[in-house]
Amino acid sequence: AKNAGRGRVEVFDEDASKHSLGRLELRSDLSQALARNELTIHYQPIVELDGGQVVGFEALCRWTHPRRGPIPPDEFIPLAEETGAIVGIGEWVLGEACRRLVEWQRLRGNEHLRISVNLSPVQLAQPDAAARTLDVITAAGAVPSDVWLEITEHSSIRQDVTGFVTALRAAGVHFALDDFGMAYSNLSHLKRLPVEILKIDKSFVAGLPAKDTDRGIVRAVLAIADSLGLTVVAEGIESADQRAELLALNCRQGQGYLFSRPITPEAATALLRAGTLI
Ligand code: C2E
Ligand code: CA
Ligand code: CA
Ligand code: CA
Repeated sequence: AKNAGRGRVEVFDEDASKHSLGRLELRSDLSQALARNELTIHYQPIVELDGGQVVGFEALCRWTHPRRGPIPPDEFIPLAEETGAIVGIGEWVLGEACRRLVEWQRLRGNEHLRISVNLSPVQLAQPDAAARTLDVITAAGAVPSDVWLEITEHSSIRQDVTGFVTALRAAGVHFALDDFGMAYSNLSHLKRLPVEILKIDKSFVAGLPAKDTDRGIVRAVLAIADSLGLTVVAEGIESADQRAELLALNCRQGQGYLFSRPITPEAATALLRAGTLI
C-alpha cells in the first residue's frame, strides 16, 4: 500500500512538472509569436437571428505553434496575460480587425457593419489605455462608432474600468459585456458602465430549449436588457432549436456554429459577398 501510494505521488509530480515545463516553454515562445507571424485572426459572424443578416464579426485570435500546431486561445491568452504579451497582441488584433472592417465596409458600400474585439483586463490596466486604444482604431481608418469592445465582468471586478469605458464611449466606441451571467456577475456593473450589449454566455445557450434553469437565466437576462434598453447577443448557438427558442424569447442577435464557425478573413469576405447565412 505504501509503495502504491508513493507511486501515485510520483506519477502526479511528474505530470505536474511536465505541465509547468510546457507552460514555461509556451510562455517564452509566445513572446516571439507575434514577430514570427504565428498569430492570425479568425472572424465569427454575428447575425440577426431572424433572417440571418450578418451585422458584424467578432475577431478571435489564433496561434499556430511551429511544432505543437494550433494552441487554443483559452490556453495562450491567460499566458499572454501573465507575461504582459497580451498588450502587444491585443493592439495588433484591434488594428488588424479594424483594417478588415474598413475593407468589408467598402465591399458592402459603406454599410454599417461592426467589428467586435475582445479586450483583456491587463490591457485595460495599462496607463493611457484609452488613448492608445483610440489611436489604434483611428490609425486603421475605422470609424470608432463601428467598433465594439468586449470586456468581461471580471475586468470590472479587478479594477475600476469606468474611466476607460467612459472615455472611449465619448469617442463613439461601443461596449459589450462578455460572458454575461458567469462567475463574476453583478448587476451593479450595468449601473456604472455605459455598455450597450450583453453577451449571454454559451453555457446557458447550450441548455436551450430543454433545461429550465438555463431558459430561466436567458429569459432573465433578456428582461434586464429590455428594461435597460440594451441589446442581447447570444453566443454558442449550435442548433436550429436553440435559435428558435431564442427568437421566441425575443433575443434578436447571436453567433454560433449553426451560422458559422470563426473563419479566415478571406472566407469572411466571400461570405459578405454572398449575403445572409440562412
Ligand atoms: P469569447 O470571447 O467568449 O469567444 C467566444 C468563443 O466561443 C470562441 O472561442 C468561439 O470560437 C466559440 N464559439 C463560437 N460559436 C460557438 C458554438 O456554436 N459552440 C461552441 N462550443 N463554441 C463557439 P475561442 O475562439 O476558442 O476563444 C476563446 C476565448 O479566448 C474567447 O472567448 C476570449 O475570451 C478569448 N480570446 C480570443 N481571442 C482573443 C483576443 O484577441 N483577445 C483577448 N483578450 N481574448 C481573446
Ligand atoms: Ca467575446
Ligand atoms: Ca463570450
Ligand atoms: Ca468566454
